[in-house]
Amino acid sequence: AAAPPQAVVVMMPTQGMGHLIPMIEFAKRLVRHRDNLRVKFIIPTDSPPSKAQNAVLRSLPSTISHTFLPPVSLSDHPIETTKIETIMALTILRSFPSLRSALHDLITTNTSVVVSAFVVDLFGTDAFDVAAEFNIPRYIFYPSTATCLSFFLNLPKFDESIHCEFRELPEPIKIPGCVPMHGKDLLDPVQDRSNDAYKWLLHIVSRYREADGIIQNSFMELEPGPVKELLREEPGRPPYYPVGPLVNLECGRTGESGEESSQCLKWLDEQPAGSVLFVSFGSGGTLPSAQIDELAHGLEMSEQRFLWVARSPNDKLANASYFSAASQADPLGFLPKGFLERTKGQGFVVSSWAPQPQILAHQSTGGFLSHCGWNSTLESVVNGVPFIAWPLFAEQRMNAVLLTEEAKVALRPNVSKNGLVEREEIASVVKCLMEGEDGKKLRYRMKDLKEAAERALSENGSSTNHISNLALKWSNYSKTKTNTAPN
Ligand code: UDP
Repeated sequence: AAAPPQAVVVMMPTQGMGHLIPMIEFAKRLVRHRDNLRVKFIIPTDSPPSKAQNAVLRSLPSTISHTFLPPVSLSDHPIETTKIETIMALTILRSFPSLRSALHDLITTNTSVVVSAFVVDLFGTDAFDVAAEFNIPRYIFYPSTATCLSFFLNLPKFDESIHCEFRELPEPIKIPGCVPMHGKDLLDPVQDRSNDAYKWLLHIVSRYREADGIIQNSFMELEPGPVKELLREEPGRPPYYPVGPLVNLECGRTGESGEESSQCLKWLDEQPAGSVLFVSFGSGGTLPSAQIDELAHGLEMSEQRFLWVARSPNDKLANASYFSAASQADPLGFLPKGFLERTKGQGFVVSSWAPQPQILAHQSTGGFLSHCGWNSTLESVVNGVPFIAWPLFAEQRMNAVLLTEEAKVALRPNVSKNGLVEREEIASVVKCLMEGEDGKKLRYRMKDLKEAAERALSENGSSTNHISNLALKWSNYSKTKTNTAPN
């Protein structure tokens, strides 16, 4: 008898490790459920793949393969002024010919292969056109919050009914299922509706309803309002599968600075349980030098232990001096004078990259001052570590609102009139989180969430069930359907 057809799920992430990593975690869990299921990552690019991308992709089991599409040229768009959303949208459109030929090869080289799903990420819906040519069902993997997803699904409506900039609205916006959100807290690309990035986003999300399903990295207890809302059947809205929290517990190990990483874990080993505040702004977040100054003094004044991933400041002036030969020899030279000496017993500073998953899992870690990137947030949740929310860009302000007002697991420091969070405020929020009554409450809430996360991912948990249902659906698809290769 002929071998049963092999079902291949094609996944197509857009630029950024924050998009790739959770998709990989989803893929890893998916292939465990069905023997005939494989995943193939087809990755559009605008530059050669990074070391980090190669490292994670090469470490995957043989059931998950990948191919990079040739880099597209974006030379007609100035790199300094073109927003990332525009770059992602154009990269996909310009990759159509190579995507088409990759899919064609996949289904014609081996006739017992059926591509049963084409999964794009939050910015990839334009590629639905190519999947349709091959008669492949189309899905979205949404690596951020249900809150932001609910906003995306409703953006076309908001766009029609609201005529000013969202940040000028006198009242908070009511996103279905979500806590009211001020326009200024919405994600970056909607802050300037005249910019191309907004137009691209609007176009991309207006295609969300074409999907056969939307898979999202969250779970009920973390975002009850929006998750409930999205699970409600609504004509014209794709089925919704919350499958989180999917986090990579290994990813810190692939960091660049091995020596520094092991030193900071060693330092953590020597600290009392739950006593250390971890301070980090994600894989790319940086602060202006005036803000770094305040943060350093605030941490010192708090008299709490801290482990800080301190990147050089992002303002031009400071960068100019930072990149001079002298400061390269002293990578932490931008910190206030004498800070490292004065805080020697109290804190540990890492200059570029820390093994975050291991740090958050460490018993000495008791709090996390975070930029609220969704991967960082989920990593903190699965380890039960409460937050100080310090959002910087992308959808991080929305995440901060969700964490402080809906999930109630974070404190948010006040920004003063000069645009800075001042040292006194930092010291007081840090103290409050690490040893105050409010901190205690957040810790209890976080413990509940951690347990809920474990339940969601347990054998019969909600997230596991959604993944196994998708695996079954995609595996069976290959037994009854075929792809059509256009000429
Ligand atoms: N990360 C890390 N060490 C660092 C900074 C970041 O391991 O020093 C990892 C972190 O664990 C998370 C990811 O990088 O998995 C950051 O993703 P997130 O969505 O939080 O923020 P982004 O970097 O996309 O702003």
